[in-house]
Amino acid sequence: MKNNTVVVMGAGMVGVACALELQRRGAKVTLIDRREPGQETSYGNAGVMARSSLMPFNNPGLWRGLPKLLGNQTAQFRYNPWFLARNPRWALGFLARARQSTFQETATALDALIRLSLVEHKRLMGEAQILHRLRENGWLFLYRSAAAYAGSQLARDTMDHFGVATEALDRKALSDLEPALRPIFDRALWIKDASSVDDPSQVVQAYARLFVARGGLIRQAAVAGLQAHKDKHWKVLDDAGGHLEAERVVVAMGPWSKAFLAPLGISVPMAFERGYHMHYGSAEGVTLKRPVYDTGGAYVLSPMERGLRLSTGVELDDCDAPPRHAQLELAEKAARQAISMGERMERDVWLGRRPTLPDSRPIIGEMPGRPGLWLAFGHQHVGFSTGPGTAALLGAQMYGDVLPIDPEPFRAGRFLSA
Ligand SMILES: Cc1cc2nc3c(=O)[nH]c(=O)nc-3n(C[C@H](O)[C@H](O)[C@H](O)COP(=O)(O)OP(=O)(O)OC[C@H]3O[C@@H](n4cnc5c(N)ncnc54)[C@H](O)[C@@H]3O)c2cc1C
Repeated sequence: MKNNTVVVMGAGMVGVACALELQRRGAKVTLIDRREPGQETSYGNAGVMARSSLMPFNNPGLWRGLPKLLGNQTAQFRYNPWFLARNPRWALGFLARARQSTFQETATALDALIRLSLVEHKRLMGEAQILHRLRENGWLFLYRSAAAYAGSQLARDTMDHFGVATEALDRKALSDLEPALRPIFDRALWIKDASSVDDPSQVVQAYARLFVARGGLIRQAAVAGLQAHKDKHWKVLDDAGGHLEAERVVVAMGPWSKAFLAPLGISVPMAFERGYHMHYGSAEGVTLKRPVYDTGGAYVLSPMERGLRLSTGVELDDCDAPPRHAQLELAEKAARQAISMGERMERDVWLGRRPTLPDSRPIIGEMPGRPGLWLAFGHQHVGFSTGPGTAALLGAQMYGDVLPIDPEPFRAGRFLSA
């Protein structure tokens, strides 16, 4: 390395974790974001870090549910048909990978990334002195009927196959574990290999403070462009007319990575699995001890520092299409059947975009044919949990170190060529 400088673009969970890891490896790192760290997708997620998240949405079970999903009326899934028509490479690629062989490869890859990340998160939380935000008591999948539980066989078999610790609960055992839930659930699956946090954005911000305390620089500006510069340097242009130069750059702009790379001739097949959230006060002091996923209601309810956070399923549309609130309204109705919740705590509904590639795996690695241009995006439903594992893998690749997990399933070349 000549001068060992890196600019990381994007200060969500992925970018901040990369900045910390590269700094740990001795690089002089600048992190640039148009907002404060952790204010976008990494702000509004459900805060779950679970080994059960190795199941991608495009698994072989997708085909059975597809006719209902395509009706475009469920709380679980909505889509704008024009978005799919404009993105056939993504849409067809995503569906084509809902087959057993790709599913096995993806689940294996995500399992390794999630396991690595859980260890890295715990280390970072200790270093950032925020272990009090971590709950290590798992999360719950809730089933309203025996038939719904039977329908989850593939998920349960997959978790068993990968050695994810779970426990099936009947009504009584569920009520003992989560007394706040009303007795409307026939069964539950307690995913014990899972933890959660009480404020995902605060976790990112604490990691960013750790980065600064260790000498890292954060620049708040919108990145407007990227140029390959003389002497194998990269020049990062911002919208205020300034620029940063570095030997290597990391694109970690989450859902905005696609639009950012397009002018460089890099066409990323990414879709936006949009999701919403709202917080609710607790009624009668009732709350949950851990996040729950009501499979019938298609929402996740997470106990956060500021209240109960209700987050919704998937809406496929353009990154910046106007919000639609139908899914949140359905989810809220279903959640009120499950638990006594207070009033909405915010006026505006939060909207986030899960950035998803056709095989539901992120890209982690160097761009083919562009030395020094590193990519870390596409973390779909698991980017809050897998940011630190992504950073560990990217750092080891950048510095030619022993790789902590197999990089093959994540390499950029599977979708992008020189
Ligand atoms: C409803 C919902 C629930 C979720 N639940 C979970 C969960 O429980 N567990 C989990 O692990 N994951 C969850 N996810 C997924 C997770 O939130 C994302 O995968 C993750 O936050 C992506 O992180 P990121 O750093 O890649 O992107 P982001 O957090 O979006 O960060 C990208 C950053 O790039 C910056 N940026 C963009 N363009 C520019 C520019 N031109 N100049 C400068 N900066 C720019 C943005 O300001 C932003 O800070 C959920 C997502 C949603 C929507």
